[in-house]
Amino acid sequence: MKVTILGCGGSSGIPIADGTPDGNWGVCDPSNPKNRRRRVSILVESSDTTVLVDASPDLRAQLLDARVRRVDAVLFTHAHADHCHGLDELRGMTHARSGPIDAYMDDRTRQALTSRFAYAFASSRDSDNLYGPIFQDHVLNGPVEIGDVQAIPFTQGHGPETTQGFRLGPIAYSTDAVSLDDAAFETLQGVEVWIVDCLRDAPHPTHSHVEQTLQWIARVKPARAILTHMNHQIDYEDLRQRCPAGVEPAYDGMVIDVAV
Ligand SMILES: [Zn+2]
Repeated sequence: MKVTILGCGGSSGIPIADGTPDGNWGVCDPSNPKNRRRRVSILVESSDTTVLVDASPDLRAQLLDARVRRVDAVLFTHAHADHCHGLDELRGMTHARSGPIDAYMDDRTRQALTSRFAYAFASSRDSDNLYGPIFQDHVLNGPVEIGDVQAIPFTQGHGPETTQGFRLGPIAYSTDAVSLDDAAFETLQGVEVWIVDCLRDAPHPTHSHVEQTLQWIARVKPARAILTHMNHQIDYEDLRQRCPAGVEPAYDGMVIDVAV
């Protein structure tokens, strides 16, 4: 199984386009390409199946840079803009496969996305629409088989909301999480590679911070942990040097091969 980090940045990406002439890099060293971060997303590839997790506003560039040839299904973690506002960028993949892409999400995310982007989903689109739907939407109520990949969802706390984490065979993905319950830790048991939220050093109401994320990792004990959703207050090299063995910050384009 192969995982590609399509993006590992905070909700605004790095640098932030806030009017600063070269973009706002925060504490990040602009000369290190690993500090240029797009919005979070991963691609998971098995021998015959390609699964995308989230559709970031940077998705078109992410698909092109990773030379993605097909997308069999999309798993949505939640409906925040940085995780789904690039969903229209999958239209080309829909044409290439001559049909909508299966999209899986919890009921709350489905309600949000089908009202915000009604045209894109088979269940909510106007029948007069000349263009076909991009997605066949499905509500996630438990594990789902996508080709030879089994996706096991688990619920994560994200401040006043919840998100879905996913266990995909030997790997797991936990973005946008500030709290994990015992059921989540049970699903994570035995995972080899865990890609996990780590927004910044200071605590935050909706995202895990460095100290808490390292405590989670010490509990789950994956062979390898990869930190993601890092904002402009985290410099790649600074964090890398502070990480214990087996833990490292992600960077865009990072590829992780895992024996199944
Ligand atoms: Zn979020």
